[in-house]
Amino acid sequence: MAIISCPECGKKVSDKAATCEHCGFLLGAHDSESLARKGRLQRSQKLSKLVSQQMLAILLFVAGIGASFYEWGTTGIGPWMPYIGGGVATFSFVWYLVTRGRIYVLKRQR
Ligand SMILES: [Zn+2]
Repeated sequence: MAIISCPECGKKVSDKAATCEHCGFLLGAHDSESLARKGRLQRSQKLSKLVSQQMLAILLFVAGIGASFYEWGTTGIGPWMPYIGGGVATFSFVWYLVTRGRIYVLKRQR
């Protein structure tokens, strides 16, 4: 058993109590509702994070494809750029698929 402060009056109450003994505030009902709201908020935040990751993966994929076709020349890392670009494109394609899968799973949980 722990002592928490009532969200309504701020006085110390037991976390096992259904209502606040000082002001009669419904602690149990308030808790489950705020927990559900918190869960929904966290999920939508996670979803928007994944959507922006997906966008980033697409951009990286396009950049990788672009880099592998661009004429970089034969000096320095020029000859390696098609491989680097191809690697980046492959990586971001896999990343895109993983992110897409995670978005799908997250949406199905609703
Ligand atoms: Zn209270």
